[in-house]
Order: sequence, then structure tokens, then C-alpha cells
Amino acid sequence: MAADGASQVAILRDVASLRAQVAQWRAQGETIALTPTMGALHAGHVALLLEAKRCARRSVMSIFVNPTQFAPTEDFENYPRSLEADAAKFAAAGGDALFAPSVEEMYGEGFATKIVVGGPAEAGLEDRFRPTHFSGVATVVAKLLNQCRPDVAIFGEKDYQQLKVVTRMARDLDIDVAILGAPTIREPDGLALSSRNIYLSAQERAAAPNLHAALARCAFDINSGISIDAALAAAKASIAAVGFEADYVEARDAQTLAPIARREDGPMRLLAAARLGKTRLIDNIAV
Ligand code: AMP
Repeated sequence: MAADGASQVAILRDVASLRAQVAQWRAQGETIALTPTMGALHAGHVALLLEAKRCARRSVMSIFVNPTQFAPTEDFENYPRSLEADAAKFAAAGGDALFAPSVEEMYGEGFATKIVVGGPAEAGLEDRFRPTHFSGVATVVAKLLNQCRPDVAIFGEKDYQQLKVVTRMARDLDIDVAILGAPTIREPDGLALSSRNIYLSAQERAAAPNLHAALARCAFDINSGISIDAALAAAKASIAAVGFEADYVEARDAQTLAPIARREDGPMRLLAAARLGKTRLIDNIAV
């Protein structure tokens, strides 16, 4: 096994090592949960791991900053990478194995396949601003699911559209795994934890919780009978007032992500993406 000595957990660097570890667990009759991440672990990732441990005997977390889900203009090169610290956090939370492959291991010479995603991936939310993103996500997640073949894979509701895209993809491609969503973990002031929050200046950090506050207020307003359009307009105005530039603030069907005109038409989700300076934050909330 290609294990580093950096922590008590095995850090697996290649697919063969991952498969050997999983086969050993399977031979013992053990179940396996996979939690895909890009690392720079925070309490949101740890919450997913704890959920994984509730769902299966063994927990694997992948740490892979996936180049194919970043546009050329995005932060792939500068995305925070901290494998040593991540391994310590993962070990402290009781994880079993970290899978941290290189780009070359994941995308060998001649790699030429990608998954074309529709349905929730074409909802007109993140896909409008990151048109190649979900194809990259779906392709790498399909690879990770094939490499690990877990019983369960855990994804955060923080990336709500991604959760729906991955669920749809696994179902459509008959991948034999249960995709599970876990709630968003927040700072005490409401800001959703994100590896990208470190990009925020002190002033931006102070304004950032207003995104969640605006969505929470919007959900409250809609539940109080205020029209969806009026509630969304108020949310947009309140984040603009503290310096956000919104990409979108929308009310959608919580399952399909299709536009939804009336509260009575089904469970609803509010989803938003907005930029504070150079940092783009996303958030969402149930209504
Ligand atoms: P990332 O490393 O940002 O790609 O995220 C890896 C997984 O962690 C994804 O399923 C995310 O949705 C999830 N995640 C990220 N931030 C949070 C959070 N604040 N609470 C819960 N899950 C999160």
C-alpha cells in the first residue's frame, strides 16, 4: 500500500492502492462510505465524514483538486492545498483512508472522456456562470465512484445543485451507490463554511453573513405569504446594500431545480451566488 507516514491514516496515492484497501475491507464484510472533497478541510467536511461514519463501517475521503471543473479564469492554481493538515483533521475525526491522487493518476495520457450532464445541471443557476463546471464534476465523481465502489457517497447541501447533478448522474448511469446529502455547516454568524472564505478581506468577511441572512429572511417572507418576486427582490437589495454583486438569487423546486411560481407548488429551495470583491460565495436554504 502506498501509505505516507504523515499521520495515523493511510494516504493512498493511486487507484490500485485504493482498490486493494477497499477489497480488504470487503473481504471482512465491511461497508464503505466515500466523501469526495477538494481538501483544505473545515468543519463542513468533517461533518460529512461523521455522517459517512454513521452510514458505513469504513470511511474513505478523497482529496483531489479537480482541474476539469475549473474554468481557465478560475482559481485552480491558487486553490488552497494543505494535505498534511487535512490528514491530521481526518485522523482526529476517525476517518479510515484518504485517497489523494495526482492529476496524472486521475487523467492519464490520452484521457478523452467526459460526461455530458443535463436536467439539474442545466437549471440556469451555477451552469449559467460556470458552463463547463458540472461536466467536470460529474466526470470526476463517476471516476471516484468507480475507483472506490462505495455503498454510500456523501455530498454537502452547501453545493445544492451539485448534489442534484451527482444524484441524477448516478441514477442515470446505474452506478450502484446511495448518494446522500448532508446539511450545511455554518459559522456562528451564519456564513456557510467554505475553503474559499480565506480569500475574504476583513471587511468582506464582515459583510459575508448577509448572504445567509438575506436568504433566511426571504424564506421567512415567502412562508409569511409575501410574493416570491417581492421576497427575492428584497433579498437582492439587501445583499447589494452591503457590497455583494449577485449572479443569481432564485426560488426553485427543491427536487428538480425548475423555476417555481408559487409556494404551494411544492418544496422550494432558495439558491444564490454572489461576489464580494474577487470572492464568489454560494448559499442556499430550504423554504
Ligand atoms: P469541496 O471540498 O468544497 O469540493 O467540498 C467537498 C464536499 O463538502 C462537497 O460535497 C461540499 O458540498 C461539502 N461542503 C463544503 N462546504 C460545506 C459546508 N459548509 N457544510 C457542509 N458541507 C460542505
